[in-house]
Amino acid sequence: AKEEGRGIYRFYTAALTDKANERLSMERRLRRALERDEFLLHYQPLIRIADRRIVGFEALARWQEPGNGLIPPGSFIPLAEETGIILPLGERVLRMACRQMKSWLDAGHDIATMAVNLSPRQFHLPDIDEIVSGILTETGLPAQYLELELTESALIEQGIGAEMRLAALRKLGVRVAIDDFGTGYSSLSYLKRFPINKLKVDQSFVRDIPSDPADMEITSAIIGLARNLRLDCIAEGVETEAQLDFLRQQDCDFAQGYLFSKPVPAADAESLLGHGIEM
Ligand code: C2E
Ligand code: CA
Ligand code: CA
Ligand code: CA
Repeated sequence: AKEEGRGIYRFYTAALTDKANERLSMERRLRRALERDEFLLHYQPLIRIADRRIVGFEALARWQEPGNGLIPPGSFIPLAEETGIILPLGERVLRMACRQMKSWLDAGHDIATMAVNLSPRQFHLPDIDEIVSGILTETGLPAQYLELELTESALIEQGIGAEMRLAALRKLGVRVAIDDFGTGYSSLSYLKRFPINKLKVDQSFVRDIPSDPADMEITSAIIGLARNLRLDCIAEGVETEAQLDFLRQQDCDFAQGYLFSKPVPAADAESLLGHGIEM
């Protein structure tokens, strides 16, 4: 029995070491990826439900590691966030997205919004407003076209500092959306204090429409909340006409999801702008 016990112990430490090593090597790969500039953006259209026109895009990070295909953000953003790599990475994402938006505007495309995810750690930077304003200046993108997507937890966990940084960002003229709305544990009172522009209904509520009555209630409550607070509202993860019908009935203004388009490379996004979305 004693022998067996030691064996199990050895097994566990080996497993832990493997895990730690894996993290370490992933961290090294991420830093190298920054040096080698292996990150790129895909763009997913934001759609006005009334006329199905593209009103903007959300920029979503992808990692093109040579020999390893296109790695989705779920596989590297969490570790980037933990290690702080998200700070230089997030800046690069912001710069690429603003540059792309500026070039689409210069080409005459009539779109209003480039949405970029801002991680909690980025939002926590005391000089985040200066970083954003520096990138706007550098790329020549007028602030009103940039929308920063923040999660509820990023806002709530940072107390009074969050209010000040949010105010500083809004003062630049950029817009702010609450991402994954409804999945945080927050009280709703922060909606009064924070100068935000838009709620994004999390896709977990949209997924089972129209079969799950609770999800439909929650979705319609969020849409109503946005309307009463004079905020824009967009539903994420819209995959079916039935979901879209429900959102239209509830007077939701905007939608995003595979029904319209997956996130696509810049060139494909631009051709969507030229030809519209076929449905
Ligand atoms: P998110 O911000 O909630 O982005 C929406 C995610 O839902 C995207 O996954 C998108 O591809 C996916 N999606 C869009 N429409 C549909 C649909 O109809 N059905 C389904 N099932 N999924 C849909 P993606 O690109 O894998 O991104 C995952 C998450 O990674 C994002 O969730 C965001 O939290 C994070 N992320 C992506 N890019 C960045 C970035 O540049 N910075 C930071 N901080 N986070 C990022
Ligand atoms: Ca988002
Ligand atoms: Ca989301
Ligand atoms: Ca559900």
